[in-house]
Amino acid sequence: MAERADIAVVGAGIIGVACALQLARQGRQVVVIDQQPPGMGASYGNAGHLATEQVFPIADVSILKRLPAMLIDPMGPLRLDWRYLPRALPWFIRLLLNLQPARYRQTVAGLRALNETSLGAWQRLLHSIQRPALLREDGSLLVFERANSRAAIDALQQRMQQQNVPVDFWSAEAIRKVAPQLSEQIRGGLFFPSTGHFLDPYTALCELVTAAKASGVEFVQRQVLDARVADLGVTLVTDQGLFAANQVLIACGAHSAKLTAALTGNNVPLDTERGYHLMLPHEQQRLPFAVTSLERKFIMTPMAGGLRLAGTVEFAGLKRPANMDRAWQLHRLSKGLFREELSTEDATPWMGFRPSLPDSLPIIDRVCDGKVLLAFGHQHLGLTQAAVTAEMIGHLAETGTGEPGLPSVHPYRLERF
Ligand SMILES: Cc1cc2nc3c(=O)[nH]c(=O)nc-3n(C[C@H](O)[C@H](O)[C@H](O)COP(=O)(O)OP(=O)(O)OC[C@H]3O[C@@H](n4cnc5c(N)ncnc54)[C@H](O)[C@@H]3O)c2cc1C
Repeated sequence: MAERADIAVVGAGIIGVACALQLARQGRQVVVIDQQPPGMGASYGNAGHLATEQVFPIADVSILKRLPAMLIDPMGPLRLDWRYLPRALPWFIRLLLNLQPARYRQTVAGLRALNETSLGAWQRLLHSIQRPALLREDGSLLVFERANSRAAIDALQQRMQQQNVPVDFWSAEAIRKVAPQLSEQIRGGLFFPSTGHFLDPYTALCELVTAAKASGVEFVQRQVLDARVADLGVTLVTDQGLFAANQVLIACGAHSAKLTAALTGNNVPLDTERGYHLMLPHEQQRLPFAVTSLERKFIMTPMAGGLRLAGTVEFAGLKRPANMDRAWQLHRLSKGLFREELSTEDATPWMGFRPSLPDSLPIIDRVCDGKVLLAFGHQHLGLTQAAVTAEMIGHLAETGTGEPGLPSVHPYRLERF
């Protein structure tokens, strides 16, 4: 006998959990299936930045110039493991093709549509679980140190203003007033007032799990090995037997390609940009909000459990072990950014798999006559876009269409691949 659910959500990351809560509140009987306890994937250790300002694709053509360094330097901010090159190459080619002007514009429009509705969706979600304080709506800052970076900062500010991203230039003096622990080397930066940060992304996810359980969502620990569309719904093959559902939502982050292919026949070009963090538990008070370094290419977010240094992109697939030296490298990168060096006492390193598609947009869709819902591929922005994705999936599950006030699902359809 197969276990049964009305809707099975595969994946208990921030996307799957936010969607499960939304669906349960719409009166659906929801079971979330994950091979691990909820929130142990990419959603566990991200930088916690509500990054609504990030409306440009994950890379630009300069990536071509950086390719040799990516292959050679194991500690660089962008790293491509040469053993992974044959697997990564087709994905990189698609990424470059997507930088052609028309497609580039579509990507920016798609990212903007999600990011512009992200903050409102998170406010609704956090108020609905009575936890608005999990998100600090205090903006974020991008700083620069080299005099010759000023032109790049000015150009970025202009490009962002063209996309209606709220952004202000801050002088070194203005920065020192609000973040006095940052060093004299900082010459200025861009402040993004419509962004914010989570005090701990894992805690936020756990609060959503608690709310989902209170709304009747059941969480089970199983690995889903295979899936097929059946006459009356969907059958999942798990490591503990069969699971039948009227609808399934695939929300397995970077691991979503195999099940999507099994259900739809579409081999989506999903890859992973592995990212790292170093958590510094004794450095809670150093920064008032999240600060990113333009030249050093990483972010520092003040969280309840300390200061989180996070970032870097590593192309090495899902199977290769983490290179935790890259997490410790974040501390080396922070040297010179503060008047006093950051303490690494009790520091913990972490690696996670960002789920990335070569056009930088997620897949949010309903296919197979409505039996299959898809929500994955949110790259560097899964936390930012989780609440709005959940609202979209809520409407797709019921009506097959979007809702006025929410982004149109068109740019995120599976059929674009
Ligand atoms: C270093 C780093 C920093 C980041 N910073 C930010 C940030 O500041 N802001 C932001 O918005 N985003 C950020 N991100 C991106 C964000 O973390 C991800 O986009 C987001 O967490 C993806 O969520 P998800 O639910 O799709 O995937 P995940 O959280 O990875 O969840 C997928 C779940 O699926 C489960 N699963 C997979 N396969 C199976 C299977 N076969 N059977 C059962 N279960 C399965 C996994 O166990 C996992 O729990 C960052 C990412 C990293 C790595």
